[in-house]
Amino acid sequence: MSDLKLVSRQHSDHNSIIKVGSETIGGEELCLIAGPCAVESEQQLDEIAKGISDLGIKFMRGGAYKPRTSPYAFQGLKKEGLRMLSDVSKKYGVKIVTEVLDTSLIEEVYPYADILQVGSRNAKNYSFLKELGKIDKPILLKRGMSSTINEWLLAAEYILLEGNENVILCERGIRTFDTSVRNTMDIAAIPLVKELSHLPIIADPSQGTGKRSLVTPLSLAAIAAGADGLMIEVHNKPEEALSDGFQSMYLDSMKEMVEALRKQAIVSKRTLNLEQIISEVI
Ligand code: PEP
Ligand code: MN
Repeated sequence: MSDLKLVSRQHSDHNSIIKVGSETIGGEELCLIAGPCAVESEQQLDEIAKGISDLGIKFMRGGAYKPRTSPYAFQGLKKEGLRMLSDVSKKYGVKIVTEVLDTSLIEEVYPYADILQVGSRNAKNYSFLKELGKIDKPILLKRGMSSTINEWLLAAEYILLEGNENVILCERGIRTFDTSVRNTMDIAAIPLVKELSHLPIIADPSQGTGKRSLVTPLSLAAIAAGADGLMIEVHNKPEEALSDGFQSMYLDSMKEMVEALRKQAIVSKRTLNLEQIISEVI
């Protein structure tokens, strides 16, 4: 039926666990990645980094280079943004997940990223995927917004084939006929990918729905469906965000969300190692 080889369950019958420093993705522990859509300023990033690290969240997202549909929209702070990410990483101990937009930027982004994010718009950029296969850091591979599951797994195959086995898949919603949500989160993709592949899979209900109020329910659904973690957009002032404000959580409501996830983790026989939250709540 398809050419899935290195990514397939037949190739490896146990789940791949990706190591990121002292953290792992794909094992019993759920991985939470939170942060703004885009890095906007030192103050913005610091407030958000403090907020999420106070909750015990260990991975911070934030785009320094943004792939925008309109060339007139905010394109990111670029090098300055990378430097800001590095500052909060040192200050709060968070690991950084940030997008690399094309091959020419791999070298620049590499030193700042613990995980390099490949966006939905690049999910079929095969020459770029091959280059990402030659590096030794984990790649977070978003599903193309119109990629079938098979096409998405073949995109991962391109990376593995060049030698980089550290790929984390990320379901971020697909385009369908329904415009009442920004994208349609394909929850079924999660257990199906688990059947087909040994790679870890996380969900991004922020891009997946485009609507803040849907992020917690879809996060719970993704974990219930077997996702290994979540990527969540959060902002200190969502109404002032330069991108994706409508889908960004308020810092205040993250605590409630994480508490709900902690309960879901127990039901899903996973762990969520967020000591600071548990000790505050008890
Ligand atoms: C994002 O994570 O902010 C983003 C642009 O995601 P995607 O590539 O899934 O649209
Ligand atoms: Mn975004």
